[in-house]
Amino acid sequence: MNKKKRNMSNVKVSMPEQAPDVRNKNFSEVALGYTEEMAQEEALRCLHCKNHPCVAKCPVNVDIPAFIEKIASGDYEDAYQIIASTNSLPAICGRVCPQETQCESTCIRGIKGEPVAIGRLERFAADWHLANVKEQPPQPKTNGRRVAVIGSGPAGLTCAGDLAKMGYEVTVYEAFHVAGGVLMYGIPEFRLPKKLVQTEIDGLKALGVEIVCNTVIGLTLSIDDLFESGYEAIFIGSGAGLPRFMDIPGENLNQVYSANEFLTRVNLMQAWRWPETSTPINIGKRVAVVGGGNVAMDAARCAKRFGAEEVMIVYRRSEDELPARKEEVEHAKHEGIIFNLLTNPTEIKGCDGWVTGMTCIRMELGEPDASGRRRPVPMKGSEFDIELDTVIMAIGQSPNPLLRNTTDELKCHSWGGIIVDEETLATSMPGVWAGGDAVTGAATVILAMGAGKTAANSIDAYLKDKK
Ligand code: FAD
Ligand code: SF4
Repeated sequence: MNKKKRNMSNVKVSMPEQAPDVRNKNFSEVALGYTEEMAQEEALRCLHCKNHPCVAKCPVNVDIPAFIEKIASGDYEDAYQIIASTNSLPAICGRVCPQETQCESTCIRGIKGEPVAIGRLERFAADWHLANVKEQPPQPKTNGRRVAVIGSGPAGLTCAGDLAKMGYEVTVYEAFHVAGGVLMYGIPEFRLPKKLVQTEIDGLKALGVEIVCNTVIGLTLSIDDLFESGYEAIFIGSGAGLPRFMDIPGENLNQVYSANEFLTRVNLMQAWRWPETSTPINIGKRVAVVGGGNVAMDAARCAKRFGAEEVMIVYRRSEDELPARKEEVEHAKHEGIIFNLLTNPTEIKGCDGWVTGMTCIRMELGEPDASGRRRPVPMKGSEFDIELDTVIMAIGQSPNPLLRNTTDELKCHSWGGIIVDEETLATSMPGVWAGGDAVTGAATVILAMGAGKTAANSIDAYLKDKK
């Protein structure tokens, strides 16, 4: 047990960040991370509770008090190794995991004050490791058995990494020209630097994982082709990249983007570095982003950074129901994003094929619906018009139908999610497992990683049994 005095402060050690009116004009990371002193001071807030309720709420069961204890005593590499033993992407999770609804939500320090800043400490340990430890772990001895992974998001990468560590020869097939899934094409640079994601991917390559980009399974190759070329098992981690629209007049006008396309242009095509890169973005002066989740916050904050004078979130429920992380909502507000709540678009207006504005209607909250949230109800006669140059639709994504349309054997829900056995993540196709957003619909990085891990263990058990 650490001999230093516990820190009984009821608030987290704050993390330095770029000032709002500076950061809303650049794409550099907003939150700057703890120094060693800050990390130790925060680590000393942990009580090392006997039952450590935080661990049970972590989808990959990181031994939280153990790694925090190591930070408190200055053993940063040991702290990293504890996290890395169950979480293969700690620098990413430390930045984007919704800790407020997971580990930090049950932290005992949260009863009387703020919980221990578990996410910030995880980020600190991971960043310390990346900055100070250069050698890669030795490549595991291969067992000569081949597994294919479809999709290189957190589900696919975790499954591939875990299987490679067990000795399997893993190939990841990715549709885009860059691996990483939403970590690369969706979450912006100012929340998750791409260099960091690439370093984690390079770590997997050092374990022997082969990544083949520009290959759409279901188009370039089929699942049957993969089996025929010698893969003994397949994991599908193809995500939920199909954008939804509202089906209102005007959605096909120029300057109406899906958040998916907008963020892909910004992040994957690196439009924020134009003219150094070949994809420019012109969004005009006034932008509305429809939706209230993390995707909407990211799109709005990017639009602001592209120089739009007025960027507004248009969301049909109230602030209490905003699905985005609280921290992201606060960051967006500080950066000057306007929140038009209890408001829903009814029509996007245009002239000569281009967006000129939007008609909206005010909403009020009625009885709870199936999701348990109060149903938004339109207020008759409350319509009003807003002038706009760009509309970005961020109302959700579904799994892409490409794979399921190419085989009858892969059973799916009517909304597109792949049906799996809850325990093993086996699909209806023999030798095929699935996990992450492709199964659950749009969810979180850590849940996708947890699924990748579960599937890797199931595939290992299946292949050992098959031998
Ligand atoms: P994905 O990350 O979507 O990866 C799937 C990959 O499969 C993609 O690269 C895709 O190109 C590829 N693919 C698809 N079909 C094929 C095919 N047929 N052949 C080959 N490759 C294919 N979660 C959080 O926890 N915190 C956040 O702050 C957060 N912010 C987000 C912000 C945005 C803008 C978005 C879009 C999502 C955010 N999420 C966040 C959600 C999180 O990113 C996802 O839940 C997670 O990435 C899902 O992982 P996945 O591996 O299942 O799929
Ligand atoms: Fe530490 Fe909070 Fe976990 Fe208790 S619940 S062990 S105080 S992080």
